[in-house]
Amino acid sequence: MKSSDHIGIIGGGIIGISTAFYLSGLGHDNITIFEQCGIACHSSGKAGGFLARKWCDETDLRGLARASYALHMELKSEFPDLDYRCVDTFQVNTSERRSDKSDTQTPIKWVAEDHVTATKLLDTSDHTAKVSPKLLCNKLISVAKSRGVKVSISKVVDVKKSDGHVTHLLLSNDSEYVPVDILIVAAGPWTTKFIHQHFPEYQLPAPRAQTRAHSVVLRPRSSVGTECLFQYHTTTSGTVDPEIYPVADGTVYVCGEVDYVELPDNPLDIKPDSAKCDDLISQAGYAANCLSEAEVVTKQACYLPGSHDDLPIIGRVPESRNVWMATGHTFWGILNGPATGKCLAELILFGKSKTCDVAPFSPDRFL
Ligand SMILES: Cc1cc2nc3c(=O)[nH]c(=O)nc-3n(C[C@H](O)[C@H](O)[C@H](O)COP(=O)(O)OP(=O)(O)OC[C@H]3O[C@@H](n4cnc5c(N)ncnc54)[C@H](O)[C@@H]3O)c2cc1C
Repeated sequence: MKSSDHIGIIGGGIIGISTAFYLSGLGHDNITIFEQCGIACHSSGKAGGFLARKWCDETDLRGLARASYALHMELKSEFPDLDYRCVDTFQVNTSERRSDKSDTQTPIKWVAEDHVTATKLLDTSDHTAKVSPKLLCNKLISVAKSRGVKVSISKVVDVKKSDGHVTHLLLSNDSEYVPVDILIVAAGPWTTKFIHQHFPEYQLPAPRAQTRAHSVVLRPRSSVGTECLFQYHTTTSGTVDPEIYPVADGTVYVCGEVDYVELPDNPLDIKPDSAKCDDLISQAGYAANCLSEAEVVTKQACYLPGSHDDLPIIGRVPESRNVWMATGHTFWGILNGPATGKCLAELILFGKSKTCDVAPFSPDRFL
């Protein structure tokens, strides 16, 4: 490729942004991110931002996750204002039934003991951390912009091809086609649909079901600690497992409650199920009383970017010469965003990725 080549990236989430950040860091600056709503307007701005160094070790994600955890630490050193903090992480079992306090003393000061049946340290602050996904996306995009990357708030609705090459993109707010030399599709849960529609020759299997997850942001009246909690809450009808992450600004993020409502075309049309958000607040209240009485700052929902085999898809779209894709990061997109972006940048600029081996995530595996 030539240094003057125009790279178009569809998607202003963590994956598209990280790719632009590392491409521009490696010296390529003729890049435009096309984002239909706004930077980090979907999952990448609504995620918890929990990071774990070793939790993917028993899976195919090991190399990517370890490399990305290390990149997050690099980013934290470079940009101290990211709200990145190293945290201890606990499992907290709770029950609707009041427990006998004498049996269940918890080391976490802000956790209520009256409904806690057990606590277990899952990992220490040497290996788990919490970052603000929105701040991270905003920081990476502002640095990328300072290196020449452009952001176009527009939806890509069509591609023009010639001889196996994508040559132009058509934007929803423009009647002209925009020329591109390389296209990267990093459109989160919309990627599969986009690829099916515009590259039908590559028969990418659809993800099993588009998973929607709810989250709430609470502002408790009393202060909480820094520990991240994976709660197992037993009710009369079964067990639910919300995740509770204190945020540096004094709020607490709680997520869980998944369902399978059809993905709308526009992220701004995603409406959370308010009752599911209320359930999250009530469940979290069994772990810490201050959460059930907290001010509710946000109720929201967003979709996980899935894939047919629940692994990321990173690499060149088969049958195409200049189209790349990066999606399918499910619950670990914030963790794995930086390494995905860096590997993709290296693949495109140098033909191979030095940061880690992304061959297991190649789109070729579905052929
Ligand atoms: C509730 C919840 C909590 C989570 N917590 C964590 C966590 O703690 N740690 C972690 O590592 N991960 C977490 N995740 C996962 C993480 O949020 C995602 O994996 C990640 O944000 C996906 O990033 P993305 O860039 O692929 O997609 P997105 O953030 O969805 O970005 C894709 C963008 O593409 C744009 N787009 C789509 N089509 C077009 C088009 N045609 N033209 C222009 N733009 C287009 C969309 O508007 C969107 O902004 C969580 C996810 C959820 C749902």
